[in-house]
Amino acid sequence: MFTGIVISGSQLAYAASVTVQHDNLNVRTGPGTNYEQIQKVHTNETFSIIQEQEEWVEIELSNGTGWVSKEYVTISEEDTEEADATEDVEAETVQTNPSTETNTIKIYYDHSQIRKGPGTTYPITDFADKGTSFEVISADDEWYEIKNNQIQGFIHKGLVDVPQSKRSSGIKHKTIVIDAGHGGRDVGSISASGEYEKDFTYRTAQLLSHELKALGANPIFTRNEDEFISLASRATLSNFLDTDAFISIHYNSVPELPNVEGMETFYYHDQSKELATLIQKEMMKETESRDRGITYGDYQVLRQNLKPAVLLELGFLSNPEMEQLLLTDAYQKKMVTGMINGLLYYFNQ
Ligand SMILES: [Zn+2]
Repeated sequence: MFTGIVISGSQLAYAASVTVQHDNLNVRTGPGTNYEQIQKVHTNETFSIIQEQEEWVEIELSNGTGWVSKEYVTISEEDTEEADATEDVEAETVQTNPSTETNTIKIYYDHSQIRKGPGTTYPITDFADKGTSFEVISADDEWYEIKNNQIQGFIHKGLVDVPQSKRSSGIKHKTIVIDAGHGGRDVGSISASGEYEKDFTYRTAQLLSHELKALGANPIFTRNEDEFISLASRATLSNFLDTDAFISIHYNSVPELPNVEGMETFYYHDQSKELATLIQKEMMKETESRDRGITYGDYQVLRQNLKPAVLLELGFLSNPEMEQLLLTDAYQKKMVTGMINGLLYYFNQ
């Protein structure tokens, strides 16, 4: 069964609710069966929706949030109708509320596509030329809702220029592009137990994003849960956004040497060496993993990246013991804490 609207992995907030259609439905920490179960919900219980991602929906619980499969819930009609209603309602809100702090963006390319909703599945409603200014009405991880006196709609963040004035010390408001390595038909390396690297990298990316958001940073993903995105597109996205740091997440594998272990951070341009040093150092502190150090690495996502960019190899999936450790939330959390601490030092110096 398929309910609700397709938002191609964007993280959007809706004032909608789900009603559970299955008894003892598992609630998990993330959008997938590989995430830990945290509690169960029951038939006919209703919850507010925080966001939707592909086949999963994040719901508001009395003690936090969690994810359930859309297969076992119905989503209230409210949100499917919203796409049509939004335009008028929000236009009015903006006009009658001029005191709201305004944030403006400029279009980066000629003939940029403006869409009816926040995703490439929505129809194109207009085009805007390079240099055109818009007021930002709302934003999610990937899209801005924008308007000026001629046009209103949604534009991908990769197509706009954000004023530099927001740059300051500290991690707050910093744009951090999180690149979960591989995806879709590119599964990456294969673990000792036959799992794919692309799923490990996505899981770590989700956790990192969650922690960054809690600190007031602006994390942006280069890919949705399981889609193929070229290496060039990943670097391009970083270059066109107001990126303060780009972090590519990978896991290693050397099946013929199953005892190999350790973490390593790569950089390409000299400007990224400091970021690499700080993240590697802090990850070592948190995980006590074997330190493989920082290394110059000729990777396309780093080489073509104009922003401070690092590529993390977080451990060897071919090592059966390491794989089991890497599958635990506790160890994932340690790695992410190391990354966050490295970023905090980087932005606070
Ligand atoms: Zn990889």
